[in-house]
Amino acid sequence: MIVSNNLGKYDVVVIGGGPGGLPAAIAAAREGSKTLLVERNGFLGGVAATGLPLLAFYDRTGAQVVGGIGDELVRRLDRVGATFDGAIPCPIHNSITPVNPFWLRIEAAKMCEEAGVDLMFSAEVEDVTVVESRVTGVSLISRGRKYTAETKVLIDSTGDGTAAYLAGADYEMGQGEDTRVQPVSLVFSLGNVDIDAVLEYIKNHPETFSNPPTYGVHYTLDYFLDSRSFYFTGFEEFIKVARENGEFDVPRDRVIFAKQPNSNEVVVNAVRVSDIDPTDPMSMSKAEVVAHRQVETLINFFRKYCPGFENCFLANIAAGTYARESRRIVGIKTLEDDAVNDYLVPEDTIALAGYNLDIHTGVGIVLQPSEHAIGVPYGCLVSRNVDGLLASGRCISAKPYPLGLIRAMSTCFAIGEAAGTAAAMSVRSGTKLSAVDVSELRNRLSKNGAILSTDQETQHPIAQFG
Ligand SMILES: Cc1cc2nc3c(=O)[nH]c(=O)nc-3n(C[C@H](O)[C@H](O)[C@H](O)COP(=O)(O)OP(=O)(O)OC[C@H]3O[C@@H](n4cnc5c(N)ncnc54)[C@H](O)[C@@H]3O)c2cc1C
Repeated sequence: MIVSNNLGKYDVVVIGGGPGGLPAAIAAAREGSKTLLVERNGFLGGVAATGLPLLAFYDRTGAQVVGGIGDELVRRLDRVGATFDGAIPCPIHNSITPVNPFWLRIEAAKMCEEAGVDLMFSAEVEDVTVVESRVTGVSLISRGRKYTAETKVLIDSTGDGTAAYLAGADYEMGQGEDTRVQPVSLVFSLGNVDIDAVLEYIKNHPETFSNPPTYGVHYTLDYFLDSRSFYFTGFEEFIKVARENGEFDVPRDRVIFAKQPNSNEVVVNAVRVSDIDPTDPMSMSKAEVVAHRQVETLINFFRKYCPGFENCFLANIAAGTYARESRRIVGIKTLEDDAVNDYLVPEDTIALAGYNLDIHTGVGIVLQPSEHAIGVPYGCLVSRNVDGLLASGRCISAKPYPLGLIRAMSTCFAIGEAAGTAAAMSVRSGTKLSAVDVSELRNRLSKNGAILSTDQETQHPIAQFG
């Protein structure tokens, strides 16, 4: 029998503590809302806790486009030596911010505690109570116990739109009738990599990092040799040979890895499992098995074929296989394809997205550089049919194409801060989320360090890479 425990009344409940949820909870609590953050793992960070670099704090023009809580977290990481003093310009990814995932977990929890966020780990949302199309509470499940909490605003930052789905919110997944999404991946790290040997190889074989002409942007040798860290995409030549030798069955034409703040460590983004439904646990379980087997294949591949990796060891595997896209709510506004094609920064922008279009398909990636950051309108966070419900992170209202750009972690941090701030404003004023004064929201965000305009001075001369 399930016994139900009452957690009491909250102003804001946030489900999911990744780049979309963490800043939402911190912002809401800082704005005076009694806030509960529920996370199914025993730590915060979501994909940011895998060790992958946070992309695009700076856009292609070299302007900083994400400030606020995301920036604050990076500064705290810098103070403990868990990043390389902020964002590093990158010709392909605009900017990369490598992080130590374990320090990120520590600093994230401290920031929540300092803001007064109540944390509930190892718990999942079980159901959402909706009365007359308005969210009034949630039930949570953990270790055979059920917990209920009343709330005025519910923020779904599960990545899967799980809370929104339970609330009966309109949502989309995939493209129209076709619900297939980008492949899922399991991130892992390798230690004892001889970075000098890797760089020596790259120096003598620049063809290894020559990306498809369709990318429109290209690495330079200087980027690898002069940067404190780098996000490498290549080694196609070794994959071809390994595949011919029957030693590589991962559906990828190149591997991606980034140099980590820990010496001689790299984080690898090369596992790929296609045709998985992230909302179906049996499908995801299949993915976990295949993904873990691919980690073994990739380690053997790196050790045997890739210079500098001969004596590497497995240093970390992420908490689970993560999806690039899943359910997306349908908001009172939706980020459409023209936002990317026309680089739109509308007046109701509450976050800037400074990454490029990056969609994983087949064995490769569709990459399309974005001249400058685009704006995410507030209405993309607001459910069109359930009051009291906001989405944050990658499950906001966006078509699959713009999602390929806004899903970068720095952008999710900015979206999250806006979600939490808007939630607190709605609670304070007693207005519906759809009636939040967006210009006042923008003022509050700017006051707290968020960046909402693409007009500021260029700070990082990414143009140097051509
Ligand atoms: C393999 C991969 C590689 C990527 N590479 C990069 C990269 O190098 N740099 C970059 O900037 N971006 C990268 N991205 C994109 C980026 O990581 C995501 O778009 C971003 O993390 C989305 O943030 P989020 O908070 O919406 O979701 P997530 O990061 O997925 O966080 C969701 C959180 O919610 C929790 N949760 C989920 N369901 C529940 C539930 N029912 N109850 C309670 N908690 C729940 C999860 O445990 C998790 O902590 C990558 C994504 C993937 C999948």
